[in-house]
Amino acid sequence: MCGATLTLALGCHRKQGWGIAAMAACAAALPDWDGASIAFGGVAYARIHRVWGHNILVAGGMGALMGGVGYLAHLSTRFRRKAAQATARFWPGRDFMAPPPVYSTNALLLWCLIGVLAGLVHLPADIVYSGHPEMRSWPVPLFWPFSDQGCVWPLVNWGDITSTLIFIGAMFAFYFWPKRAQIIAVLALAGVLGYIGVRWLLV
Ligand SMILES: [Zn+2]
Repeated sequence: MCGATLTLALGCHRKQGWGIAAMAACAAALPDWDGASIAFGGVAYARIHRVWGHNILVAGGMGALMGGVGYLAHLSTRFRRKAAQATARFWPGRDFMAPPPVYSTNALLLWCLIGVLAGLVHLPADIVYSGHPEMRSWPVPLFWPFSDQGCVWPLVNWGDITSTLIFIGAMFAFYFWPKRAQIIAVLALAGVLGYIGVRWLLV
């Protein structure tokens, strides 16, 4: 939700469509792929999760890749038709099949840049959302694999519900007032940052 909201706040959807926000949502969630290490047991999970995917190199690189793949999907008529059909289920009676976009290197770069930004925003979010009253803070090794030094600023408990509720509220607002998405996104981000600021003052 953070990646999509950030993209909408930047107004990228105005020229690129809502697909770029969907791509950013995926790119921002992608660093948690290392959580799949749970399949190999607790020891592997403890060593790999919040390490392999949670650093500037991998999160940024995978974000760029996601942006590129997202842009190719955006150009694909078949993919856009399927996405338009899926979207129309939520807004019956409306046609979401936009005219085919023409390839543009600038647009490709924008998608990749937004993918990188969305991937990287996961890292400060995890650094700040890493406190817990009964557990150790969970550092993020930003410069792995070059350094194992972890970064942590546990202002908010992980699993904290307030920011989630702000983002869920924003998702509903996007649904009902899609034309006002940019201002809604700006307000939602301001709300989340304000909440983190209050937690900082209370620490
Ligand atoms: Zn994470």
